[in-house]
Amino acid sequence: MRLFSGFAQTAGLLSLAVAVRCSFEGHQHPLQQDVNPFTPPGTVVWACNSLDRGIVLTFDDGPSPGNTENLLDYLSKTGLKATFFVVGANAQRYPDVVRRIVNDGHLLGSHTWSHANLTDLVQTKGIDALASEIDRNEELLFGITQQRPWLFRPPYGAINEAIRKYLEDRGYTIVMWNAGCFDWYYQNVTQELVPLINGLPDAGAIVCMHDLYESTVGGLPVLVDAFTGTEGYINPQGRRIITMEECINPGRSAHSRNSQRSEL
Ligand SMILES: [Zn+2]
Repeated sequence: MRLFSGFAQTAGLLSLAVAVRCSFEGHQHPLQQDVNPFTPPGTVVWACNSLDRGIVLTFDDGPSPGNTENLLDYLSKTGLKATFFVVGANAQRYPDVVRRIVNDGHLLGSHTWSHANLTDLVQTKGIDALASEIDRNEELLFGITQQRPWLFRPPYGAINEAIRKYLEDRGYTIVMWNAGCFDWYYQNVTQELVPLINGLPDAGAIVCMHDLYESTVGGLPVLVDAFTGTEGYINPQGRRIITMEECINPGRSAHSRNSQRSEL
């Protein structure tokens, strides 16, 4: 699968890391599915449908006061759109930042309530324990924004078939990534830049970052310039920043999910 060639490089890098904040488990991706022209709930997405070399910006683990707000300022100034996979415990603390993410036109996804490793959780406490991580975060985000999240990213990439099915039943599309996710490790955009650019898949890329870090937010303009080639950084990529919807072509909108869920 040519789409995932860059991903194999990332997997190799991950195996070298001692403590990986958002790594995926194992060396293979048993849940990897072919991406359909339309992406229905329950699909585990590792790459964009589009073959136009677009790049999606995703940010995990926030919101964080200051850093997320500075990031939103930059995105607003540049007109770029991103996807935020927020942790419920942080969203509860900073609901105004969550509201601004939505009001500014970005997508809000769930990253569990407490950044739990869900495969460990299910193994020790059973499948019903997912409610405290997935449903609890959903209710919180709905209370803050009046919209139900329809995107989910599992912390550490830890997922199995039972968890995927649980998410499918609740209408979530599961979004992994095929580039980045090392900003927490480097915390230095200069060091991050070369492996990230070299590891970008040929087709559409889902870049994972974390809005907890000042280095990530401060370094993002450099990364975007490198992606798009606007400043001619290292081998200009000439790529376009696209939205998650452009990337995965969802089979139904967040609005339709709101309607469906409100009847449950
Ligand atoms: Zn995370």
